[in-house]
Amino acid sequence: MTFSARQTKFRCMRLYHPSAFDFTTTVPSYWEASAQPLGRTTRSLEGSQSADVAVIGGGYAGLHAALQLTKAHGLKVCVLEAGDIGWGASGRNGGFCCPGSTKLSYRQLISRFGLEETRRFHTAQREAVNFVGDFLHSNNIDADRSGEGELQLAHRPSRVEELKVEQQFTRETFGVDSTFYTREELAERGNDCAVFYGALQSDVTFGLHPLKYVRGLARTAIDCGVMVFPNSEVTGWNSEAGHHTLKTGKGQITAKTVLVATNGYTDETLPAAVGGRLLPMLTRIIVTRPISDNELKAQGWLRADPSYDTRNLLHYFRLLPGNRFMFGGRGGTDASPEGMKRIVKTLRVDFEDTFPRLSHVETEYSWGGLVCMTSSRTPFAGPIDGMDNVWGAFGWHGNGVAMASYAANRLADVIAGSKQHNDALPAVLRTLPGRFVLPFLRVQYLRAAYVGYGAADKWR
Ligand SMILES: Cc1cc2nc3c(=O)[nH]c(=O)nc-3n(C[C@H](O)[C@H](O)[C@H](O)COP(=O)(O)OP(=O)(O)OC[C@H]3O[C@@H](n4cnc5c(N)ncnc54)[C@H](O)[C@@H]3O)c2cc1C
Repeated sequence: MTFSARQTKFRCMRLYHPSAFDFTTTVPSYWEASAQPLGRTTRSLEGSQSADVAVIGGGYAGLHAALQLTKAHGLKVCVLEAGDIGWGASGRNGGFCCPGSTKLSYRQLISRFGLEETRRFHTAQREAVNFVGDFLHSNNIDADRSGEGELQLAHRPSRVEELKVEQQFTRETFGVDSTFYTREELAERGNDCAVFYGALQSDVTFGLHPLKYVRGLARTAIDCGVMVFPNSEVTGWNSEAGHHTLKTGKGQITAKTVLVATNGYTDETLPAAVGGRLLPMLTRIIVTRPISDNELKAQGWLRADPSYDTRNLLHYFRLLPGNRFMFGGRGGTDASPEGMKRIVKTLRVDFEDTFPRLSHVETEYSWGGLVCMTSSRTPFAGPIDGMDNVWGAFGWHGNGVAMASYAANRLADVIAGSKQHNDALPAVLRTLPGRFVLPFLRVQYLRAAYVGYGAADKWR
């Protein structure tokens, strides 16, 4: 099916309450309260303009692709962002710069893509983390890097054995080692927490300030010549005679090539060829007031390593520079302000259950946002079938700080024609996810999964 010369009229369609897509609001996050402004003059798109490549979405994926297309390939590139730069997940995430981006286990990946392609993907995940670290360093972006290596904490005794099996599997299959700590060893190293039974520590992850990162990235892109237009939601798309025209409230841009980098905030009709393939999911974060050294000592949690537990509906948390505690978890399916309040209460209860000796420490910030799953449970960076010169980069499964950055940078070389798709990216990232069966039931599927996973987490 070809999608040319169509879609001039839009019927904006997203899966959750409209307040999750109010691009005019400022996210009330700790990151917003603690990041410097962008520091460059930008304005929304006005009038008619042209570019070689138009990128929709001003997060890590869109900006990294745009930067590489401009800097390495000399193309004229514009980024259209519906809100402020980094308004989506890139400006509000938990700041774990870590491997990830799929919901399939390595064993499942091997059975679907084969051992060699899974090894390539494993390597890409680690390269992605180093790519971000190097990018921050070489562009003098101070994004409050903290913590070294991530802790996966067993929330049930049965999970301890599973972590050990995983450790051995990773060592034998990928030649990468990790360290196992018993509960007592965790307490000794400054991760004292009675609800966990042991943990596996891997070496590559670090924590960062996500908004400082995305703003630093945007500054670098603008200084390099990328045209960045915030507050420019694409609301119309016309494809004709080998060119795409994207319409916004006050302007339009014509380009030969378009990259869709809207991830969890994707409009189901923009473009229709992407619709039904993605499953945005809510996740929420709370951040406490700064905690004194004595209060931390009383809890016994003294380290900044990014940490998460072995639940299906996992909690992720880390001590931030300045000793605020950040605690995140699943966000339910109600994105309305009332739904948000309910989930924040639940998250607070979970925080207090996990760290009882910090239960008097008040929450100062809470917010939520959308991550993006796909029907195949794998991420994607490649051409959109059936559309001429339209590419997509999305589906990071809640782990896009590293992978969205890296995959988009690599995809830019493919878009520019300097690399073959299969040389630039492993097969895991090259396969366009299919459509969900009965896609209008996606939120219901999710509700059912939450019930099942929640029950499973209680018993094993
Ligand atoms: C609360 C939270 C915690 C998270 N924690 C972590 C973590 O600790 N580690 C990790 O690796 N990942 C984490 N993630 C996921 C990570 O933030 C994302 O995978 C990553 O930011 C995706 O980047 P992106 O550029 O693909 O998408 P986004 O940053 O979401 O950018 C997409 C952009 O597209 C824009 N857009 C949508 N429609 C249009 C349109 N029609 N016109 C113009 N623009 C449009 C949106 O405004 C948005 O800014 C978290 C996400 C959330 C929400």
